[in-house]
Amino acid sequence: MPEPVFTPMPDKPDHPALELEVLDRWARERTFERLREQNRGGPRFSFIDGPITANNAMGVHHAWGRTLKDVFQRYKALRGFDERYQNGFDCQGLWVEVEVERSLGLNSKREIEEYGLAEFTQRCKERVAKFAEVITDQSRRLGMWMDWDNDYYTFSDTNIEYIWRFLAAVYERGWLYMGHRSTQWCPRCGTSLSQHEQAGEGNYLELVHPSLYVRFPLKGREGEALVVWTTTPWTLPANVAAAVKPDAEYGLVDGGWVALARYPDAKPERVVRGEELVGLEYEGPFDDLAPQEGVVHRVIPWDEVSLDEGTGIVHIAPGAGTEDFELSRVHDLPVLVPIDEAGRFYPGYGWLEGLSTEEAEKPIIGRLREEGLLLEAGTVEHRYPVCWRCRTPLVFRVVDDWLIAVEEIRERLIDQNQSVAWTPSFYSKRMDDWLRNMDDWNISRKRYFGLPLPIYPCGCGTVTVIGSRNELEERAVRGLDQLQELHRPWIDNVTVRCKGCGEEVQRIPEVGDAWLDAGIVPLSTLGWQNPQWVEHGYGSGAATGLTGADLPDHAYWEKWFPADWISESREQIRLWFYSISFMAVTLVDRLPYRSVLAYERVRDETGREMHKSWGNAIEASEAFEQMGADVVRFLFCAQTPSQNINFGYGPANEVKRRLLTLWNSIKFFVDYANVEAFEPRTSVETPNLQLLDRCLRARTDRFLADVEREYERYWTPGVVELFEAYVDDLSNWYIRRSRRRFWNGDAAALQTLWEALVAAVRAIAPVMPFLADSLWGVLRAGEMEDSVFLAGWPESGEPDVDLLQEVAEVRRVVELGRQARAGSGLKLRQPLRQMVVFGAPLAERHRQEIAEELRVREVRFESGAVAHVRMKPNLPQLGPRLGPKLPAIRRALDESRYELDGDDVIVEGEHLGPHEVIRERIPESEGWIVASDGDVSVELDPALDAQLLLEGRVLDLIHTLNTMRKEAGLELTDRIVVTLPESQADLLAHADWIKHETLAVSVRADGGELAIAKA
Ligand SMILES: [Zn+2]
Ligand SMILES: [Zn+2]
Repeated sequence: MPEPVFTPMPDKPDHPALELEVLDRWARERTFERLREQNRGGPRFSFIDGPITANNAMGVHHAWGRTLKDVFQRYKALRGFDERYQNGFDCQGLWVEVEVERSLGLNSKREIEEYGLAEFTQRCKERVAKFAEVITDQSRRLGMWMDWDNDYYTFSDTNIEYIWRFLAAVYERGWLYMGHRSTQWCPRCGTSLSQHEQAGEGNYLELVHPSLYVRFPLKGREGEALVVWTTTPWTLPANVAAAVKPDAEYGLVDGGWVALARYPDAKPERVVRGEELVGLEYEGPFDDLAPQEGVVHRVIPWDEVSLDEGTGIVHIAPGAGTEDFELSRVHDLPVLVPIDEAGRFYPGYGWLEGLSTEEAEKPIIGRLREEGLLLEAGTVEHRYPVCWRCRTPLVFRVVDDWLIAVEEIRERLIDQNQSVAWTPSFYSKRMDDWLRNMDDWNISRKRYFGLPLPIYPCGCGTVTVIGSRNELEERAVRGLDQLQELHRPWIDNVTVRCKGCGEEVQRIPEVGDAWLDAGIVPLSTLGWQNPQWVEHGYGSGAATGLTGADLPDHAYWEKWFPADWISESREQIRLWFYSISFMAVTLVDRLPYRSVLAYERVRDETGREMHKSWGNAIEASEAFEQMGADVVRFLFCAQTPSQNINFGYGPANEVKRRLLTLWNSIKFFVDYANVEAFEPRTSVETPNLQLLDRCLRARTDRFLADVEREYERYWTPGVVELFEAYVDDLSNWYIRRSRRRFWNGDAAALQTLWEALVAAVRAIAPVMPFLADSLWGVLRAGEMEDSVFLAGWPESGEPDVDLLQEVAEVRRVVELGRQARAGSGLKLRQPLRQMVVFGAPLAERHRQEIAEELRVREVRFESGAVAHVRMKPNLPQLGPRLGPKLPAIRRALDESRYELDGDDVIVEGEHLGPHEVIRERIPESEGWIVASDGDVSVELDPALDAQLLLEGRVLDLIHTLNTMRKEAGLELTDRIVVTLPESQADLLAHADWIKHETLAVSVRADGGELAIAKA
């Protein structure tokens, strides 16, 4: 036997095995490098990667974004675009610190300092290096094509210097200031956290806290007290005031003042408006504590006092709450900060000293009870904020933080956001909302491994902000010799000369918000304002040896900025999208991106959040190995990005099943093409095309044009949907209808099918690069490129609209025919005598095809005949409107006493709209079955006779024999001998037909049971 033209395929793909083979081949044949060479100098498509934190292995949720990034970079490459393919790693900040602390068994800032800052920094860097490698391997396995030796690392000195430059610019404009304010504080991490870090929905837990009702006795009013409610007993020692709502009614109930709105059934002895209580003084609950000395506790007015919970009187501790702190400014209240960085009571708080906020609950409740101040002690379960990084419940402290004022840039950001193309489009509004509501940007963290803030305050009042390493070296007084990189502890040892008075000043110890690191990337990685290209210049400082990335020059930045497109998860609106926007608009007055694709979250297949501890999390590597990377990618691409995806093995198996349609179609082609030793033509026009072939070609043109449109609008669900519909048409229409031609080795059919399959593979290649390139390898012929990714985007002809309309009408008629058949209760293989089609003139020249498809001997076409329609009132619509007139209308419709006015019906003087009447087709002949859809309908004659019944049995037999052939493992070309049971001898009347359909050389009817044998 000659070598087959096409490599024979197994029954189904082994995705992971196939993918590893393709990865191997890509590496061997330098496919990606060749693609880049091919596109170099072409039109540019600028994509900027939002950095992935190199702190842990990838989770499946990372695979969503990385899939989308790869899909569109591959698509653009197919279209000949030159691209950068630079991957980014985020490297510093609380993420890395907390994991390193865990791995070293450290659990407080004191323990880190004892461990040693230089050592700690070293461990952090090692962790980043390790996980950058892990993530790189996983990303390659996912099929992500990136320039893996030239990643950017946000902890490089180059990146840090760019941020310094930004901070210097911000300072110049007067936006950088030190704020003394109340902030959310993590007692474990020992730092304040910013609004954007904490804004995620996940940063709350349902927690149980004490619920206390406490009396504050009023001075000079014997037997009267204010009643307050609190869930944070630890704040009571810092109490300085109590707030009432001035216009609310308060009543004295059992010696305690409460808002009457909260106690509607109470019988107060006295009722006053809140404003009448304002100014009264009371005895604080813990006046004997030293910090309380001299504090005059009084009642203050506050419009925001809630009447939905508590007592309507709010205890105010400005050192332990944000709103409390704001009130202290208005009413000039003392600010007592009771707890230190670690959330423990300061010395001076006597019996509370050293206790954590939780440990203090019991003694505080005990004291209140002893003093007779506790009215009620219970518990409450409520949503409470926890640290986004370590999940410790947060407290409030008043601290000094460095902030960037946002007021002056807010409008500019909102303005510029109007010109960004967001996908899905409503995320644009989300961005607007964030920009409208953002507070000043808290950029300082009291931590260790992070961007060193280049801020050097001086006693003379001048703040020196260093904008570059050069400037640092110029102004340095000492410490330069030991400065191995721009990180703590080394940077802390460099002192500089104050710009104001020339005195030696020290850096503040704080490090920067990690979103500064990622936010500068559109400037730092592209070489903004860098005078000269520096080879490997980006890999400086902590990044030395980790990457070969260059620091390009300004001309390069001009070429590649802004990004044409970026893509990250929706929560990056308040994080990365925000920080890159803020920093770029500050420095260059321009947003760093033109369009964005954002997506939601990954859930498990039942819709629950994935958690390791719940046992429902799936590791990314496990998913790639078990499902196959293509299947993972397909799942993500099929998902509407504005909704969470339910990810798991169930959906993955469903995708595998769906992908078999393409696989089976190609296998079908390969099997028959090999029988004929068919060789596809890649350039010459194919002779002898039939109508069905021309229809498929038109369908292919339409498909390619449509799918291109979906890629162009960054909409993968559209791509997937079009692909599946196309493959379905290909398999369930074209191949089914053309089986006999393949059987006969019809070259035009083989050629047409081959072209369509190649188109399908090329169009889906960005989504499923492995399967597509593997199938391309199966189908490729002649001079075709060795990879689908080197072949460019397929050119589509102008779709033949008339032909497509014709095909659509045929499919509609067939669909109605199937409905009618289903209504008859007869099985599909039973031939029927006749069918009449109304209102589908375009389908008429496909009469033969329709007849075969529906197993109806004769199909007649007639123009739409109104006489066959029966009108009935649509009761739910008409009932309310016409009520008592209905019976008359029904009768008139029944007796055909109506007139048509376009789509409307005029009956009994009433004008009925198209939705107010139901049009029911009645068959032309008694007993026929009708199916209709709009103005197309079919009528099917279900009557059988002996001849039709016999043909039905023959078709059953043919089906059974072909199944037996398959089960016996026969080749498509093998001939067989058929033996029928004697009882079925009547089927021999159709012996030739049976032989032809089953490749039998003889059919006998002398056996005991049905059997086949190889001839
Ligand atoms: Zn924390
Ligand atoms: Zn000074």
